[in-house]
Amino acid sequence: MVDITLQAHCAICNKTVSVSPLMNRDDLVAVLKRGGDVRVMHVAIEGDHIWSLDSRDKQNLSNAIDKGLV
Ligand SMILES: [Zn+2]
Repeated sequence: MVDITLQAHCAICNKTVSVSPLMNRDDLVAVLKRGGDVRVMHVAIEGDHIWSLDSRDKQNLSNAIDKGLV
């Protein structure tokens, strides 16, 4: 499994953080293609924050993948 990190907005922290998708890159590409939910997590002091990317963060991720950055 490839270690992917990206920047996304965490609603719980209310700031942009480095997050890891809960799936590998191939699944990520497939989910983005069909417009499905992209579950991500990051580690916070009180425990993991897990949520689904909003459409803007999904678009940013799509663009990064297209450019070969992810
Ligand atoms: Zn958070």
